[in-house]
Amino acid sequence: MGLKDECGVCGIFRPENLESDSTASSMAYFALVSLQHRGQESAGIVVSDGQTLKLKKEMGLVGDVFHKEDFEELKGRIAIGHVRYATAGGRTIENAQPMLNSFKLGSIALAHNGQLVNYEPLREMLEDSGSTFNSTSDTEVILKLIARSYKKGIENAIHGTMQLIKGSYALCILTQDSLIGVRDPNGIRPLCLGKLPEVDGKPGGYILASESCAIDSVNGELIRDIKPGEIIIINKDGIHSSSIDVKNRKQTCVFEYVYFSRPDSVIDGIPVQEARYRMGQALALESFVEADVVVGVPDSGIGAAMGYSKASGIPYVTGIVKNKYIGRTFIAPTQKERENMVFVKLNAISSDLRGKKVVVIDDSIVRGTTSRRLVQILRRAGAKEVHFRVSSPPVKFPCHLGIDTPSKNELISSMHEVDEICKEIGADTLAFISLDGMIKALGGDSFCKGCFNGEYPV
Ligand code: SF4
Repeated sequence: MGLKDECGVCGIFRPENLESDSTASSMAYFALVSLQHRGQESAGIVVSDGQTLKLKKEMGLVGDVFHKEDFEELKGRIAIGHVRYATAGGRTIENAQPMLNSFKLGSIALAHNGQLVNYEPLREMLEDSGSTFNSTSDTEVILKLIARSYKKGIENAIHGTMQLIKGSYALCILTQDSLIGVRDPNGIRPLCLGKLPEVDGKPGGYILASESCAIDSVNGELIRDIKPGEIIIINKDGIHSSSIDVKNRKQTCVFEYVYFSRPDSVIDGIPVQEARYRMGQALALESFVEADVVVGVPDSGIGAAMGYSKASGIPYVTGIVKNKYIGRTFIAPTQKERENMVFVKLNAISSDLRGKKVVVIDDSIVRGTTSRRLVQILRRAGAKEVHFRVSSPPVKFPCHLGIDTPSKNELISSMHEVDEICKEIGADTLAFISLDGMIKALGGDSFCKGCFNGEYPV
């Protein structure tokens, strides 16, 4: 625990012959609610009625930003949506998404999950040729690049933009008549395509989303993931797919499986909960310890704890509960108070733990402060021994691809050996899964592992 989520994107396309035209924005709303775990700072939806693009975005959670009357305004058949956690650019409404650009030839809106590594030179190039910017976000650079060559047609404009931008990006793009999904050539951030349920026997249209749980939330059906380097255009003629020449191999962010994604999502054919379960099994084989119970840190540690329990034969108990209602509205003023927020967020169930030797499984250790508080919570609840196990390897390097990580000298594993970290967090023993063990548990090696080994896809 400790890395920050990135963003979530979605897109809805409803065919022309359906009765209600307000359902695109309300479906985008439900999809965003189910992607809320990916970003809680701002939320927005843009809808097209075929002529005009209408936008609403504000700082806050999806449920606080949108009200019943908004959907009367946001009428149209095609919509895109975004939830944001700021990685590039500041936490301001100007940087909230989707971003909308209207120009001589039309309008485009863009929702982006990821981060460009060449944002600065591209922005400088655009400014030198007369572009002005309203935000400090890399998303506006992508939007301006597409708009600049829009007269060549939207598909060519996107192809051209993809030749220039480097980094991670899963995009949902809205024009007056099309919904477009794009995934970067390494497929670093996830994006999937689903079918919406039929309405009175007529096809219901399509949905694009960062995670398949958003497709489930509108009773849709997952069709497939967008391939690395693929552009998918959905309009009245159906679905059209093209790709840029992909020279690099697929390298999806491994943290999608470890921590970011919801356990009920399936990403690139791998069910997230199953991946966590297998990581827990691998962890038990690599670092077994005699104990009475296994507990998982909610939410993402639970799958791994169940896997650890199965492989070790040590019973799984709930042990820790999470308060789901904290949100990000309260920003504690001092570092110490921020660290103590763990006591508000997590608590232990003494009847599960009193007098027991406890194995606790968390998804990661970043600064170490949360882990230290967690050990305190378990000991306060009466745990006799606390054996800390981590279902990802030590995080030693910062991420430049859309995940908010502290600088290298704040990453505890970058500065200290495992036994020193164990002492620092106050556990009896500490072990991390090996990089090999984690990759084997995922069933292949098509992942970015930059924060563990310093080797990034771009
Ligand atoms: S560096 Fe780490 S967090 Fe960033 S994309 Fe790669 S695996 Fe994910």
